[in-house]
Amino acid sequence: MQSYSLFAPAKINLHLEIIGDRPDGYHQLVMIMQSVNLGDIIRLRANGMDEIRLFCQNPEVPLDHSNLAYKAAYLMQQQFPKSAQNFGGIDITIEKNIPVAAGLAGGSTNAAAVLVGINLLWSLGLTQPELRDFGALLGSDVPFCIAGGTAIATGRGEEIEPLPDLRDIWVILAKYSNLSVSTPWAYNSYREQFNHLYVSDSQGISQRTHKVHSGDLVKAISRKNYEQIGSLLFNDLEKVVLPDFPQVKALIDAFQAKNVLGSMMSGSGPTVFALCNDKVQADAIASEVQKTVNNPNLNCWVCKMCSHGIVTL
Ligand code: ATP
Repeated sequence: MQSYSLFAPAKINLHLEIIGDRPDGYHQLVMIMQSVNLGDIIRLRANGMDEIRLFCQNPEVPLDHSNLAYKAAYLMQQQFPKSAQNFGGIDITIEKNIPVAAGLAGGSTNAAAVLVGINLLWSLGLTQPELRDFGALLGSDVPFCIAGGTAIATGRGEEIEPLPDLRDIWVILAKYSNLSVSTPWAYNSYREQFNHLYVSDSQGISQRTHKVHSGDLVKAISRKNYEQIGSLLFNDLEKVVLPDFPQVKALIDAFQAKNVLGSMMSGSGPTVFALCNDKVQADAIASEVQKTVNNPNLNCWVCKMCSHGIVTL
């Protein structure tokens, strides 16, 4: 029986700006997203039964209906009942390398891989925009994760416009294994504290979005000016997460003290990333910061920006 193995990269946010509330209960966002080559491996195989079965070695990953990879397979079964009948159920094996609940879109990239994989497994011939539309039904970050690379994401994060590739910047990811931040908590706290700054009229929203489109960070990305990219990182959620998680703030300070290109929290955290010009520097800074912080719960990964989302192996 045919099977597919797919690489599902994590993402970081180079820019995350909250513009306001949306009628659907989500936030209106403008983000610059970037794939990195730390990723999970997803294996898909038709199992000849009715069920969707999930396998993962990491006990933090749920193996039931709440798993985003499961939800993606279920959605495809609902959308394409004839193929589901012809091919039967699916075994999904997740080799988890992306830290869980880390602000790195781990679940979203797994869901994206299942959509891409089932499209191949069932020879559906869906285009990338069609896959993105299905992804948007599963989660705001799923559409970006399909094609990945460097992109502006607007709306609730599901409207994607590609930017010129960045791939020569090395990325240190650092996370305390005993620390996790709930994404809904971070956004709700932001709403409680900052909703007086929210913009609700469509003109205001498009002005704020346009400001990012034509802004310095996008220019720096187009010019591949890595120093400038590092100095222009921005994340609104730091305003609510850092005061409650001083260890995360201290970690950003530790990286900034090492002369990295820039350092910031990714998404709703608690992962911190630092950008470096080369691997030797990134390896050295990762181990120096681990020594300075001297906490056995701190894990660091050195990876690189990459110009793709889900790819078959
Ligand atoms: P985002 O950046 O999109 O908010 P995240 O990287 O912060 O996501 P995930 O790794 O997706 O967070 O995990 C968030 C929660 O989602 C976990 O606590 C876990 O219970 C649940 N979850 C569901 N499916 C998955 C999956 N395939 N991989 C990891 N976690 C999953």
